[in-house]
Amino acid sequence: MYLKKPMIIMVHRIECNDSSINDPYYQRNLVVKIDDLIEIINIILKSKYSFGTLKQSIETNNHLHITFDDGYKEHLTAAKKLKKEYGLKKEYCSFAINIGNSLFSEFSGMDLIYNIIQNNSIEELCNYLSIYHQKNCNIEFLKEIYIKKSISEIKSIKNSFKFDKEILKNQFLNKQEVIELSKLFNIISHGIYHRDLRYHKSFSQREIFNSKKHLEQLCNQPIDVFCYPEGKNDEEVWQMCKDSGYKFGLSINHAPNNPYKIGRYCINRNIAELSRDLNDA
Ligand SMILES: [Zn+2]
Repeated sequence: MYLKKPMIIMVHRIECNDSSINDPYYQRNLVVKIDDLIEIINIILKSKYSFGTLKQSIETNNHLHITFDDGYKEHLTAAKKLKKEYGLKKEYCSFAINIGNSLFSEFSGMDLIYNIIQNNSIEELCNYLSIYHQKNCNIEFLKEIYIKKSISEIKSIKNSFKFDKEILKNQFLNKQEVIELSKLFNIISHGIYHRDLRYHKSFSQREIFNSKKHLEQLCNQPIDVFCYPEGKNDEEVWQMCKDSGYKFGLSINHAPNNPYKIGRYCINRNIAELSRDLNDA
């Protein structure tokens, strides 16, 4: 039933008229222009796919589902635009909300790191993280170290480095905007601290469970899907999701017949894979 990677696309930052997106997102290939996104959707629709729910896209091989990660401010603008363009049903798109960034102003994830680097030198941060080799002091290596940190270590980083809280605050959807978005489209959980949940597992369990409860209360609807931060998951994390009452776990790589390891196509990074699979379809 879940053999092939389903046609679920994954979107991060979107260049709309009102968005101001910092350089690191462009450098790391995480930005798509809204018109280019629509063009890609149209190409997929011209193939055998039509819009569908997440479940439909997983269980049948002819539905396209669109997912948006990290709750960036411009996602609400894009949601309205897509609704207008295609008259999409509520269940046809899912927005993954990280409640630390959107509801608690407890900023974390690579967004925090990009902000820190813009206010300090990357070398200072590398030093702090004990990355002493000059050749390893780059954003990719730093990321691999940082996402494995515990919640208290993330807090210490924030206490040790200058970062612009206002910029971060304006970068994510706030509580009211998440509520507004939840009336247009499906909301799914993206955890609290945007870290690799395979580490510090007693905290992972709480993050997976608590983020669901918070979003359910806020949006007044069941939250059935967990989207793994940085796509990182393992068997124990799948079990945590199952125990917390989630029906699906979204990743990037796909495992056949596992509802807790559903693959997706990144609109920027997996575009070659996407067009190859479209041609095979
Ligand atoms: Zn994310």
